[in-house]
Amino acid sequence: MRNTIHFRRPTNGGLAVVLGVLLAAASAFSAEEKPGYDDTPMLPNSQWRVHDKNRPQSPIVEPGAKPGDPPSDAVVLFDGRDVSQWEGLTADAVEDGAINVVKTDGLTSKITFRDCQLHVEWATPKTADGNAMNWGNSGIFFHGLYELQIIESKACRIYADGIAGAVYGQFPPLANPSRGPGEWQTFDAVFLAPKFDGEKLVQPARMTVFWNGVLVQYHQEILGATKHKMFPQYEQKVETGPLVIQQHHSAVRLRNIWIRPLNLDR
Ligand code: MG
Repeated sequence: MRNTIHFRRPTNGGLAVVLGVLLAAASAFSAEEKPGYDDTPMLPNSQWRVHDKNRPQSPIVEPGAKPGDPPSDAVVLFDGRDVSQWEGLTADAVEDGAINVVKTDGLTSKITFRDCQLHVEWATPKTADGNAMNWGNSGIFFHGLYELQIIESKACRIYADGIAGAVYGQFPPLANPSRGPGEWQTFDAVFLAPKFDGEKLVQPARMTVFWNGVLVQYHQEILGATKHKMFPQYEQKVETGPLVIQQHHSAVRLRNIWIRPLNLDR
C-alpha cells in the first residue's frame, strides 16, 4: 500500500489553534510558572540553587548578522563612515570605509568604560613604511594606558614582546597567527580593569585576546601601564578610561570597531 501524505490548507480555526499553542508556550515562562526548582542544593558561594527557578534569565542580546558584526548591545565606535565617536577623527582620515591612522594624531574614544569586550579589524601597509620595528606600528591602549600591540608581524622582525598581539613590552602572544602585509586581521579582546583601594593596587588589569580567531592572550595579568625600554608600573590609579589608538607614523588602517562596556564581577 502506498502511503499518501495529505496537505490541508489551515482554516481560520486551525490558525487560532496554532496561536493558542504559541501563547500557551509563552505563558509557560510567566511569573507564576517559572521553570526550575526550589528544593535543590545551594550552589557554593552563591545565593542560587541548582536549576533555581527564581534565578534571573540572561539579558537578551541580538547577535550580529555575521561573525564580526556588532551585537545589539555594542557601542559601534566605527562603522566605516561615522567619525563622531572619537576625539581626533575627521572625515579626511577615512579612506574606503577604513580609518588611516597616520592621518590623525592618534584617536581617543569619547566613551569611557571599566571592563570591556572589544572587536577591531586592522591592516598594516602592503609595503614597509618604516624600519623593521615600525612597519605598521599602531596599537590599542585600554584606558589609554595598557597597549595591545598592532604591527606588521609576518614580514618584519621585532623583539618578542613587541609583535602584534603582545601586551607591549610585557607578554608576547601565545602564538603568531599573523596574516600578510595589507591583509585585514581581527582582534577580539576582553579587558578587565585594575582595582585600587586608594593608592593601593588590589587587582591588576587583565587581558584575553583572540587574534584572527586564535587565542593569543589568556587572562594575562598586566604589570602596569605600557612603557618603552622601562619597567611598567601602575602610576595612574584609575579604574575607568577611554580606548586610545596609537599613531606611530605608519599608515595602519582600522575598520569595524565596536565595544561592549562591561562591569564584570570578580
Ligand atoms: Mg604600538
